[in-house]
Amino acid sequence: MQIILANPRGFCAGVRMAIDVVDQILDILPDQPLYVYHEIVHNRHIVDRFVDQGVVFVDDLDEVPTGNIVVFSAHGISPAIRQQAKERNLKSIDATCPLVTKVHSRAIRYANQGFQILLIGHKDHQEIVGTFGEAPNQTQVVESPADIPKLTINDPNKLVYLTQTTLSVDDANLIITALKEAFPNIKEPPTEDICYATTNRQAAVRLISQECDLVIVVGSKNSSNSVRLTEIATNIGPPGYLIDDVSGLDQSWYAKGTERILLTAGASAPEDLVSDICKHFVEHHNATLHIADVYEESIEFGLPLSLKRLMESHGFDHKDRRVLVEAPVITKDEYGAIAVPLTIARK
Ligand code: SF4
Repeated sequence: MQIILANPRGFCAGVRMAIDVVDQILDILPDQPLYVYHEIVHNRHIVDRFVDQGVVFVDDLDEVPTGNIVVFSAHGISPAIRQQAKERNLKSIDATCPLVTKVHSRAIRYANQGFQILLIGHKDHQEIVGTFGEAPNQTQVVESPADIPKLTINDPNKLVYLTQTTLSVDDANLIITALKEAFPNIKEPPTEDICYATTNRQAAVRLISQECDLVIVVGSKNSSNSVRLTEIATNIGPPGYLIDDVSGLDQSWYAKGTERILLTAGASAPEDLVSDICKHFVEHHNATLHIADVYEESIEFGLPLSLKRLMESHGFDHKDRRVLVEAPVITKDEYGAIAVPLTIARK
């Protein structure tokens, strides 16, 4: 049996930055209570690890005592939440991914120019709730082409669409095509809103899964980009399963004739969960490990300004504390075997 590790997989620059924000506050202020509004990233293991370190996750700012530090998660928040934090005199640290902030800025700009915004995404996802909140009177959420006839359009020449950063590229294109058919003059954003990490991880799965019998995605069920990876694999052919960790493996998936398993991870899934699964397959199924490089990533985000100010106010120098986006180093001890490169031909 071969385990094919997709590259890229796992943490993106936004997730690394958000996790780093919480880690650094815990480091500089170990005795202060730390609150995070919503899950810092959508991964059960990351959240549980922070809970074990004393972090309190809340879904309502009223749960944060006045004057305390509150971190806003990578998915972003609406201006109403920012205002509520201000009124409650909370010390806000914003760990919103800069690529989500970019979509917020676009929503503000287009709303100021009098556009109605058609926001493509999942209406209950925190990112969409936050972006919607920038211009609630001018924004409507479109989850599928079936929503288009229900839209209230004032002027078809003053429409723009924006997208959630973690959508399936294929699903988004279907909706965009349907929007363009319904509203030929709809304005397109100057660049794609679906982020580089989502696009690259999906492209890797799309390519490699064609050569595999089974696809395993490491990630939590509420992680939009992880769910999309699983759907893409299943749409292409091999069955795809989303699991939180090695305990989610089901032997019946690979009982007979399974030769190649693609293993990947959503943008919020830590690599140690992937290495546990590799180790399991090496130890129990005599598997060999292979890496299929599809895209190289070198993006990193600096610490948010609000955290730099907090660090300075407590006498810490933030200059050396950059986030490093490094490819995981595969060691025999951690993964059970050394992985060898595998070339997957583009069709
Ligand atoms: S998936 Fe994309 S938008 Fe979301 S945190 Fe990562 S880089 Fe940012």
